[in-house]
Amino acid sequence: MNQNKYIPKVIFAGAGPGDPELVTLKTIRHLREAEVVITDRLVSDIILETYVNPKALVLHAGKQRKKEGSTPQHIINELLVEYALQGKKVLRLKGGDVSIFSNLLDELQALNKYGIEYEIVPGITAACGAAAYAGIPLTARNHSQAVRFLTLHNQEIIPADYWKELAHTEDTLVFYMSGYNTDELVKKLTDQGIPEDRSIAVVEQATTPLQKVFSSPVHDYAQQFGNRLYMSPTLIIVGKVAGLHKTLKWKPENEVSGELYFKPVTKNKEEEARA
Ligand code: SAH
Repeated sequence: MNQNKYIPKVIFAGAGPGDPELVTLKTIRHLREAEVVITDRLVSDIILETYVNPKALVLHAGKQRKKEGSTPQHIINELLVEYALQGKKVLRLKGGDVSIFSNLLDELQALNKYGIEYEIVPGITAACGAAAYAGIPLTARNHSQAVRFLTLHNQEIIPADYWKELAHTEDTLVFYMSGYNTDELVKKLTDQGIPEDRSIAVVEQATTPLQKVFSSPVHDYAQQFGNRLYMSPTLIIVGKVAGLHKTLKWKPENEVSGELYFKPVTKNKEEEARA
């Protein structure tokens, strides 16, 4: 009988948006058990330092827009397959939730090709983290009935008609990976005649001690914050609910500027070896 044979399996787990206390008990258990942890950039160092077994191999496979040290997706897929087939307990740790703007599909398909099993553990996505810590109820009664998660990254996939729809919907709009493009986002919405009662809240480094929120009516944004460069990562919330931040905010304003909670990507040894 082959009772002790280890069946290769990869655990995909979300690490939450930043605050190390926003990680689930299940993810913590997997962090403790893993022999290889392949982590995204937007994961708090505190989580890795506190919960990962000191004997485990930690690989930083972060991606960052236009940054040289970004790990190509095919390398991440290869790492997952290789270590799993070596019989190692592999944990793929992703910032926020595992399935929101995260290339989960690619990684699952890579494992499926080899018949490698997997398990998926959700996490708190940045939209929920940022909304909570900025005091913005995403679907507040009489303000919004739905939330849409969007991105301007690859904006050619948003056709002109859809911009019109976005400008006039009652839904709350949350834009991921779009902080570098906020001026353009606002222009597109104002060009399409977004109503005066819609606000925008840009939440920088949400849920971390460095969180900052910049909010205004959408039509005043260009004047108040135009040309502003935000610290990564940044999440943008648009809709009537974004205006509630002014009265419902509870987290003390961060007075520090120019500091990053999450380190920028750098090349890791695995990647260099394969470059
Ligand atoms: N899987 C992640 C999203 C990955 S895409 C999740 O569920 O949250 C990366 C984008 O997420 C960033 O560009 C930013 O828009 C957003 N993001 C992640 N963490 C964030 C944080 N702490 N503060 C603000 N935005 C964040």
